[in-house]
Amino acid sequence: MDKLLGLLADGQFHSGEELGEHLGVSRAAVWKKLKAVEELGLALDSVRGKGYRLGSGIELLDSEKIQACVDADVRTKTDIHTCFTTESTNDLVRSQRPFPAGVTRFCLAEHQSRGRGRRGRVWNSPFGSTVSLSALWQNGEGTASLEGLSLAVGLAVVKALETLGARELKLKWPNDVLWQGKKLCGVLLEVHGDPTGECEVVIGIGINVRLSDEQLEAIGQPAVDLFRVCGKHVSRNTVAGQLINTLTHLLDGFGQGGFRLFREQWCEYDAFRGKEVTLMASTRSVTGRCMGVDNQGGLLLETASGIHVFNGGEVSLRQS
Ligand code: ATP
Repeated sequence: MDKLLGLLADGQFHSGEELGEHLGVSRAAVWKKLKAVEELGLALDSVRGKGYRLGSGIELLDSEKIQACVDADVRTKTDIHTCFTTESTNDLVRSQRPFPAGVTRFCLAEHQSRGRGRRGRVWNSPFGSTVSLSALWQNGEGTASLEGLSLAVGLAVVKALETLGARELKLKWPNDVLWQGKKLCGVLLEVHGDPTGECEVVIGIGINVRLSDEQLEAIGQPAVDLFRVCGKHVSRNTVAGQLINTLTHLLDGFGQGGFRLFREQWCEYDAFRGKEVTLMASTRSVTGRCMGVDNQGGLLLETASGIHVFNGGEVSLRQS
C-alpha cells in the first residue's frame, strides 16, 4: 500500500497497467489495492483511458523530510519513526523497546484506527490528514514533577504552529489548541511509573492539517484544520519537524524548571481568562470566573466562596 500511495501521491493520472508494472502485480491485484485506498477514506478519481488519481494528491510522512526540518542540536537527541497505520501512536511509541538513553523517541502515523482522547473519548485521525505524533519522555524525578506538563505541551504546539504562519491561536485549559473557538489540536498525556522515581510519559498530539468538510463535521464538536487557519497548504512533514523542535526545547526547559517557567506565556494564550466558565467533573460542576493558572498548571477559578484551584485529569472546562 505505501508503494501504491507513493505513486499516486503526485495527484496525476496513472494507468492500471503502469501501477501494476511498478508494483510487480497483476491488474486485478492493483484494482483490489485501489479499493483498499478508497476504504482509507481517500478520494480516488478513475477515468476511462487515463487511469486513476488521488484528487488533490497527498503528502505522505517521510522521516528524512521531517529530519531536514529539525534543528541540528535537536537531531542528535531524537529518534523519528513513521508508519502507515497503527491503533494508537501513544501505544506504538511505548511498545518500541529498548529506549535509547538520552534520546526522545517520536512515532508518527498516517492513520490511527483507535486514536483516543481523555477518558476513553475518540480522536479522529483520517488517513494523511493530520499530524498524529507521540513522544516518549523518560524522567527520573517522579510523576509528581510532571505537574503542568500537559499545559506546557499545548504551548509548544502553539509555538510550532506560529512558526508556520498560524495566528490567533488560543489554549483551552488544560491543553486544547483552539482557533476562533474551534479545536485544531488535542493533547493526551499518559504517565506510567513511580511518584518519586523513574517514570515514563507518553505525549500524544493530534493536529488537524487538512480535512474535508465532511471529516470536520463528523467530529462531535466545532473543529478546524491548519489549511483553514493559515489560508494555504501547510506541509505535514514541516509541521512534524517544527513540532519536534519546540517540543524538544520545551522538555529540556521543563526538566530544569517545571511549568513555572512557562506559566506566563501560557496565560498569554488563555482562551477563557476573565470569562465565566463551568468546570465539569464526573459528579458535580462548578461555575466561576477564570483567573488564569498557578505554577503547577492548576486552573484558578473565582467563585462566590473565593478563588479555588482545580487540577486536570477528571475535569473539563466549558464556557458558561
Ligand atoms: P476536554 O475539555 O475535557 O479536554 P474534549 O471534548 O475536548 O474535552 P478530549 O479528550 O480532549 O476531549 O478530546 C476528545 C474529543 O475531541 C472528542 O470527543 C471529539 O469531540 C474531539 N475530536 C476528536 N477528533 C478530533 C479532531 N481530529 N479534531 C478536533 N477535535 C476532535
